[in-house]
Amino acid sequence: MSHPFTTERPLRVAVIGSGPSGVYAAEALIKQTALPAEVDVFDRLPTPYGLVRYGVAPDHLTIKSVTRGFEKTFSDPRVRFLGNVEFGKDLTHHDLKAHYDAIMYTVGASGDRRLGIAGEDLGGSMSATEFVAWYNGHPDAAAREMVLSASGVAVVGVGNVALDVSRILLKTVGELQASDIAPHALEALANSPVKDVWILGRRGAAQAKFTTKELREFGELSEADAVVKPQEVAVDEASEAAISDNVVKKNLEVLRDFSSRTPEGKPRRIHLRFLVSPVEILGDEDGHVSGLKVERNTLDDSGNAVGTGETEVLPVQMVLRSVGYRGVALPGVPFDDRRGVIPNTEGRVEGRTGEYTSGWIKRGPSGVIGTNRKDATDTVAHLIADAGTLPVAEQASRADVDALLKERGVDVYTFADWQALDTHEQAQGQAQGRPRAKVVHKHEMLGHRQK
Ligand SMILES: Cc1cc2nc3c(=O)[nH]c(=O)nc-3n(C[C@H](O)[C@H](O)[C@H](O)COP(=O)(O)OP(=O)(O)OC[C@H]3O[C@@H](n4cnc5c(N)ncnc54)[C@H](O)[C@@H]3O)c2cc1C
Repeated sequence: MSHPFTTERPLRVAVIGSGPSGVYAAEALIKQTALPAEVDVFDRLPTPYGLVRYGVAPDHLTIKSVTRGFEKTFSDPRVRFLGNVEFGKDLTHHDLKAHYDAIMYTVGASGDRRLGIAGEDLGGSMSATEFVAWYNGHPDAAAREMVLSASGVAVVGVGNVALDVSRILLKTVGELQASDIAPHALEALANSPVKDVWILGRRGAAQAKFTTKELREFGELSEADAVVKPQEVAVDEASEAAISDNVVKKNLEVLRDFSSRTPEGKPRRIHLRFLVSPVEILGDEDGHVSGLKVERNTLDDSGNAVGTGETEVLPVQMVLRSVGYRGVALPGVPFDDRRGVIPNTEGRVEGRTGEYTSGWIKRGPSGVIGTNRKDATDTVAHLIADAGTLPVAEQASRADVDALLKERGVDVYTFADWQALDTHEQAQGQAQGRPRAKVVHKHEMLGHRQK
């Protein structure tokens, strides 16, 4: 492959978004040996790591240890982190084309899907996305006043995010103390009157998307019993024999175990319900959720849910919809509005030269952290294969980019700044017997800098 890049003038790539897909893309770019490369990873937030910090449940700390590998990538002199720089606001597509030979969009999928039923805009009805952002201390949600006055909560959806939000609602302060949940959320949850949480799946237990380890945790909560209706997890012998997926088999085992238990009389309960669809969120005269009407379903031969017309009302005052994340369009970048992704062929952005994508904004919001590693490595392989045809940028130096950002008054947060904040958060947490006490306001984050 012939290309113009040299050690003095390496391939310069701008990666937009420092979540797993962005960091794995940077890692793949410096690990490949076909040509010298230099990477600037931008994020609109001062903090790196995307949903590892702001999505992954605060009580699943071992999962977050993946960031140790990410630190290695950022400590390589060929990679820079430029936090607090938003694509589309602080830097445009035009700016990046002038300063980089290639652009990689790895902005994730920060929007959410709606249920499309009456009552969705009532007070107390929101997306799990918003709730997760709030308890994880995302700066966009830091100012949000979250009133936790519900004794009953319905969580619509049967993926791992539904399990996460339900578990966080049901854990005691003692249990949450060991997590890195945002301080304001710990305080609010300590005073939460929640007694019953219903997780609702439209289809059967065999179609649920969660993983067994996360499901099992509901059998181990100190203050909550797991409640499952035996008839909702019953699968006939022929269908059971046809299940080839091991995760589904294990999930059914766990759910049947829950259904055979006699509740221990703990003060809280998690109800795992299947074959029910929400049809209307009911409201009181103050415009607040007062119940959720659901319809029972059966499954047709293709495994689709079919309503029976039989309804019941769940006594809830809060409804969290957890029915999927959705990509958001970036200014000046093609967008497939139907799928909520940047249209691409194996990571090459459609109709563009020198522009690539990876992660949730490339393939849609599914897959665990590790899925993004292969995904990013595959896209980088295409970028490297294209190196001879890339439009070579004219103002291609770090100093040019720094000068532009300075001229625009952008307060860039470096990786060393983030490390100072990281140390501060851990020290604050330890003083309170916790692993970390997150700083949630952007202006406060920006106050912690490398000395
Ligand atoms: C609630 C939740 C819990 C999860 N739990 C787990 C788990 O336990 N284990 C697991 O393996 N996976 C988990 N996942 C999945 C995992 O988080 C994703 O696979 C992964 O984060 C996707 O990576 P990404 O880089 O594509 O997107 P993201 O992680 O979303 O990163 C995107 C980054 O782009 C930045 N960005 C967005 N717009 C701009 C812009 N205009 N300019 C600059 N920067 C921008 C964002 O600030 C963000 O930092 C969870 C996901 C969610 C939602």
